Amino acid sequence: MRLFEAIVNANHRAAAGDPGAGLHPAEFAAALPVVALTCYDPRMHPLMPEVLGIAERDFVWLTNAGNIVPGPWSGAVRSLALACAVHEAKEIAIIGHNDCRFFQPGRYFLARRLQAYGMLLGAAATKLDEFLRGVTDEAANVRTAVAHVRESPLIPRPVPVHGLMVDVASGKLDWVANGYAAAVGGPASVVDSSPAPPAAPDSLGRAPAGPPTPDLTGPLDFKIGGELPPIGGG
Ligand SMILES: [Zn+2]
Repeated sequence: MRLFEAIVNANHRAAAGDPGAGLHPAEFAAALPVVALTCYDPRMHPLMPEVLGIAERDFVWLTNAGNIVPGPWSGAVRSLALACAVHEAKEIAIIGHNDCRFFQPGRYFLARRLQAYGMLLGAAATKLDEFLRGVTDEAANVRTAVAHVRESPLIPRPVPVHGLMVDVASGKLDWVANGYAAAVGGPASVVDSSPAPPAAPDSLGRAPAGPPTPDLTGPLDFKIGGELPPIGGG
């Protein structure tokens, strides 16, 4: 079992009431530290990194509004890339959370507007959430974020990029995307630095296409910390 599979397994056992549930980080030393991008919702503070079962020293924490990754060259991805390069993070996790205000602006602002008139949504809020789910899906946002990070040339291919959701009330973790399957070469701890063997020509004798050339016209203004400073950084 690999690191994040063990994390989710231990988290589920703890949620089910198993007093012996827990992670043994020493067994996964080669996969640590990890870097996680979460929403900056204050409800995340008591959860991270405790729900992962790893120590703070093994946890590089980036936050932004709604853990949104707008594209493969975005500041969020650059900060994740720097976490891998500078802090030697071995695995990446995009961790969304339920009840995220950035994915329910309609409900949030409507509820506030109605409150101003002395009206409370109460149980009707749930119905409104269901109605808005098509544009307020936190898990879909995590899937998009994982895809942008995974396709970014800035992120080393062997680094697994996981997607998870955490329940802010219970701390329960759920998979959105298991990054081990998509990572090339397995966990970063087994990075093979030897040059790749030449690929064979295809059936028409054409030379194989090389790896895609990075778009160097994109923004390359690396900034230490970028727009996503780690919480608690001195
Ligand atoms: Zn949020």
